[in-house]
Formats: sequence, structure tokens, C-alpha cells
Amino acid sequence: MAGTLITSEVDFEACGKHSGFLRVPNSVHRSAYGWIPVPVVSIRNGEGPTLLIMAGNHGDEYEGQIAVSNLARELDPADICGRLILMPMVNCPAAQAGCRTSPLDQGNLNRLFPGDVAGSPTEMIAHYIEDELMPLANYVIDLHSGGSSLFYPPTLLRGQGHSPEEAQALIRIQYAFDLPYAWVFTSGGGRDSTARTAMGAANRNGVINVMAELGGGGEVTPDILQRTERGLRRILHTLDMLPTYTPDAAQGTRELNAQGSVFSNTAGLFEPLKSIGEGVSKGDVVGRVHHPDTPQSEPDMIISPYEGIVLCKRAMAQVVRGDAVFQIASDAAPRKAYA
Ligand SMILES: [Zn+2]
Repeated sequence: MAGTLITSEVDFEACGKHSGFLRVPNSVHRSAYGWIPVPVVSIRNGEGPTLLIMAGNHGDEYEGQIAVSNLARELDPADICGRLILMPMVNCPAAQAGCRTSPLDQGNLNRLFPGDVAGSPTEMIAHYIEDELMPLANYVIDLHSGGSSLFYPPTLLRGQGHSPEEAQALIRIQYAFDLPYAWVFTSGGGRDSTARTAMGAANRNGVINVMAELGGGGEVTPDILQRTERGLRRILHTLDMLPTYTPDAAQGTRELNAQGSVFSNTAGLFEPLKSIGEGVSKGDVVGRVHHPDTPQSEPDMIISPYEGIVLCKRAMAQVVRGDAVFQIASDAAPRKAYA
């Protein structure tokens, strides 16, 4: 199959700091030879690993977009050992629209890997990341949040690693990111991954990767943004890519395994009865769905089928049947012996 149709204005092999755009061809009514500009910055100096940091995979998730842009401006090549590739708005059309998915093709980038070399704009972006950028990288960080509909406390997401070296690297990155929570996957990962996410793309390329959920609800939470920027610098430092940085003391991370999501089974207005971090027992009433259009109708109770703590909570009051209102997680099982 022919290679990507996307061209990069940035030469990733060049030393120094270079900013430009990936040009995603998009021939449309108002622009026959047009392209979509996906911003990218490469900062390269001397010997060291390559770290790719992405945000704006979902366009309505904002802390990562700001943190990555701040890094792009604030870091100079002299600060860096190795190569840092920064992509603050990976699915640029979605991010410009402030939407989870692209208005051009309704593409949800994080459900479209490995992409399609000749597909829609979002599919072409997925293909470029998986086939062109991931092979350059030793490490990948994909920054998310709960988007418009959910809110997460700052949470690292990672696998357990498929080798002692990978497991150690993931725990080292978790310690450096130093977010309050880590959601540790108990299955998946590895080169055989069939996940259609950026994590799946990284795993298929053998690239050590983590993801993060950083707030949500369609807003920017200043202390989460600050925690994100601190964590990214701490990760660069732990990878020996930012040698002059002096990290402060770690605050500690609670490791969790996800139990599952709790859904609304009716339409109405969601009243949460639990907060993020609060304990939940199986059978607890965790929320109510009200029906102000039928005021004599009793609210429906939402019952948790899981035991644990609330990891994420729906940010929007309006619900329909099938909307996730909580995600429940419990303290992680002990690490694998080699970790
Ligand atoms: Zn996301």
C-alpha cells in the first residue's frame, strides 16, 4: 500500500526547535487543493530518547492542549536531551470545534486506530500517528479528560507491561507524573493489541505509553492544569530528557483497577448522590433521575452493581438511557512479581 498522503512541515530528524503543521489533504467545495493544519513541534538536542506527547485527541478535552502548548513555548533545545515531539491538537478539526469528534467526518480519533491511509481526515490522522510518528518514539503520553460529559480527577492510565523492563518504565513514569490516581489495566496491551486507541497504536509499535484523564466537564481546572504541567516536566526529568529540572517531593498515587461504569436506565435529570473519591458498596443508591416533565412521577434510583470508589462522574445533568453516570474502581490488585 502507498504511504501516507499527509506531509509534515517539520523535519523530525532536524536538531533544534521546529514548529509547523502536518498537512492533511482535504479537498472540499471551498478549497479544492486544501489541507487541514495539525500543529506539531519538534525539539531535538543531543542524544536521548524520543517522547511524543499528544493532546486534543478528543477535541473537548482542554488541560492537555494547554499544557502541551506551554511546553512547546517554554522549552528550548538546550533544555532537552533527546527528541520531544509535541502535538497539542491531534484531531485539530475536533479541537477547533470544541467537540469530542471531528465535524468533518464525525471521526472519534481514539476509536479509529490503526486508521486508514486513504480514509477520512480522522482516519488519515490515526494512520499517520500509528505508522509514521509512533515508530519514531520510545515513549508516548496521550492526554485526555472526561470531555464535555464526564469529570475525572487527575488519573494516569497504564498497562502492567509485558516485560520487566516495560513494567519498570511504566511505574517510573507513574511515579514521576505523580497524579492522585492511577487506573491500572489488568488485561490487554502488547504488540498483539487490537485496541483502536492511541494506547493500542503505541502498544502495536512496542512503544512504552501512558494516558491520562485530567478533569473534564468542558472546562479548564487550574489546579489540574498545574498538576499536568508539573507531571510532564517530572516525566521528562525521569527519562533523563530534562536534566536541569529539579523535581519536588512526590505526593503519591493510589492505584486502582476499574470495576465498570454505572448507567442511567431512563431519561431525565441526573442527581449524583456520590462524589469523586467517595466509597460505594454494591447495591448503594448512587444517584437519582428526576422527571420534572411529569412532576408526580417518582425519581428513578440508580443502583451501583460495583463496590469501590467513584473514579469519574457525569458532568451533565441531562441523561438518557445508556448514559454513563459514574465509573467505579477499586484498589488495585498486587503488582506482578516482576514489577
Ligand atoms: Zn478523551
